[in-house]
Formats: sequence, structure tokens, C-alpha cells
Amino acid sequence: MTIQNLRVNHGTETSSVTSAPLLDVGRGNLPLKEEIMEVVSDIIDTGWFIGGPHVKQLEDAVAEVSQTQFAIGCASGSDAILLALMAIGIEPGDEVICPSFTFFATASAIHRLGGKPVFVDIEPKSFNLDVHKIESLITEKTKAIIPVHLFGQCADMDPIMDIARKHDLRIIEDCAQSIGATDSDRAAGSMGAIGCFSFYPTKNLGGFGDGGMLTTNDPALADRLRLLANHGMQPRYYHVEVGINSRLDAIQAAVLNAKMQYLREYSEQRKQNATRYRKLMLESGLSSLVSIPSTLPRCGHVWNQFTIRIPNGRRDEVRQQLAEMNVGSEVYYPVPLHQQECFAYLRDETGPLPETERAAQEVLSLPIFPEITEQEQRYVVDCLAKALGASAVQLRMVG
Ligand SMILES: *Cc1c(COP(=O)(O)O)cnc(C)c1O
Repeated sequence: MTIQNLRVNHGTETSSVTSAPLLDVGRGNLPLKEEIMEVVSDIIDTGWFIGGPHVKQLEDAVAEVSQTQFAIGCASGSDAILLALMAIGIEPGDEVICPSFTFFATASAIHRLGGKPVFVDIEPKSFNLDVHKIESLITEKTKAIIPVHLFGQCADMDPIMDIARKHDLRIIEDCAQSIGATDSDRAAGSMGAIGCFSFYPTKNLGGFGDGGMLTTNDPALADRLRLLANHGMQPRYYHVEVGINSRLDAIQAAVLNAKMQYLREYSEQRKQNATRYRKLMLESGLSSLVSIPSTLPRCGHVWNQFTIRIPNGRRDEVRQQLAEMNVGSEVYYPVPLHQQECFAYLRDETGPLPETERAAQEVLSLPIFPEITEQEQRYVVDCLAKALGASAVQLRMVG
């Protein structure tokens, strides 16, 4: 069975399309419903709810996709980052360099261990951390760097790995949005000491709730991660250190195993959808009004988000107009982490992050889920052109 004949027939008549959701998880889940119900039924019968063969199967599959020797299930992407930092021994006072333009969990894990997030600005085209701005932030307290592979595209890992080697720092990759992404043929999650994945429903491999995974090529780190994710317990009821309770449910793993078979196809469809958006936007003359995301040559982009920039303070107004035309969109992320109330204590020490602040004002993510139809994408682009106050025809005449 291929994903094509799994597809739910939805919105295929051109003229009838009057909406496009940001994400419709139902379209991906529905074709797998029977298969999933069957496994869930088995799990109910066996009563093996935590760990077990379904989790093992998913761990093996994620290790393969991520080109690593080990993969360890845990309860969420946020826990994965926390566990990774615990495993490399982040302690109070330690500094960890990470972007401010990311989801909260990247930095909250550092804070939770008493460490200090040191925010680095982003490179405007990729939205990923700017490798040229890392070294000036390194002090004798710096222990690690967390590159986030944002929106499905890897951060520029070669220079990051060079810097880490030179200054003896560990790299924890935040791969929550980038399962299956590559940088020069190396998979996300295989380049640093540990890779952290999320199965939150909006991610490229999304479950029916929370779930996460850690990847590593280091057997000692793999053992330590397993230990820490299970209360530091070895053997049962003997605690060699203080870990946390962060395990992957068998039911989540079973759901994810069913979807894992199609991960390559999901990624391929996201990529095709991105290519189609680019084409439609160029044809509509939108390239002079918004900036259209592209793939860096070294990168295998998996397009968790298709994020355009709308400059000149017009983003929120355009988003509002899209909403009125039933086009879903989202701002990832409106408030950079260095401007969050809970990190106010870091403000005086954080250097200027102009690209991060500009991105927070300009970004808008459009629907790119695998099952979105061509007609819906056309509708999104038409509405975007309308919202920007320039019909496609007018633009073509001018441009
Ligand atoms: C989603 C996400 C996380 C956290 O994952 P959860 O499974 O939601 O805890 C961490 N980092 C980034 C960049 C994310 O997008």
C-alpha cells in the first residue's frame, strides 16, 4: 500500500475549495485507523502498557532513520532534552548555548537543571543559529551547545562541531521538528552527542499524545539515558542516582510504528508541497512582497513548517485576513525566549539578538501537512495575494 491510495479524498474540486486548515491530523490518521485499532486491541489483551516490543520496534526504526546505534524512548521531546542535559552532566552554574528563536522546551531544560541558557542569534535565511556568533559567547562555564534544527532543516553542523571540538563542548541536537532531515547526508540526531525527538501530534511523526526519543552512538550515554529515564533505578527498586519517570507508552509506540512505515513518503510529500508553494508564489508575483523559504544545498529539509516572512509590520494584519478567508496559519514564535517573562533574569546578560527579534515580527507558517491538496495550496496562495492587497493578475502586469 502506498500513501497515495491511503489518501483520504478531500477537497479535490478546484472551485469548491474555500478553506485550508493549518493542519488536519485526521487525514493522516484515518487511513491507518483500522491497523492502529488492531494493535491497540492486542496491547489491551496483553496488558503490556509501558515499554515492551512496540517500543523496541519504534526505537529500532528511529535509530535507523537517524543513523545511530541507539534510540531510547521517553515521554516527550521536552523530557528528551532534559534527559540529554542530565546525561552529559549539566549542573548548576553551567552555561549552555542555544537559540532564542525556538520552542520554549529547548531552554527550559537548561534552566531546570540550574544551568544558564546563553542565547545566540539566528541566521536570517534558515532561522537556525548563526554559527559565526557562537564563539564570542563561550566562557569557561560553557558546557554544551543545543543546535535546533528548526522547521525541518538542520543547523549548519560542520562549523558547530568544529567549535565544539575546539572548546571541548558537548552538542545536544534538538531534532523535535526534523526527524529524517539531513546535513550533507548525515541524519539529524547522529551528529551531536545526543539527538532529541518529539512525537507531539504536530511533528512530522506525530502520535496520539505526547512521546519522545533520544538517539546516540555512544553506548555509555545510551545506558545512562535509559537509567535516568527510569528513576535511576538499576536493578528494580535500587536507585544508583536520581533520575526521572519518563517512559514511552506501548500504545503511542504502536501508533507511531504504523505511521513510521510512511515517514519517507510524508517527508517527500511535504517537500513536494514546499516546491509547489514556491512555484505558485513566484507565479503570483509574491516573491517581491514576502520572502519564500528555500532549502540550503547541503540540507535534506523535511518541512515541518513552511515559514514565510512578511516584512514592514504587515504580518499580523495579513494573518487576520487569512483567518477571515478560512486559511490556517501560525506564528512560530511570536515572543523569543530572551523576551519571555520567566527569563527576565537573563535580560541584562543577553546580547542584542536583532535577527531573532526581526524574525519574531515577520514569520508566518502556512499549511504544509502531507495530505494538503494542490487546490488548497492554490487557495492559500490566492488568499495570501489578496491579503497583501495585490491580486495575482495585477502583480503579473507590474512585474
Ligand atoms: C515540540 C518541540 C519540543 C518539545 O517537544 P514536546 O514533545 O512537545 O515536549 C522541543 N523543541 C522544539 C524545537 C520543538 O518544536
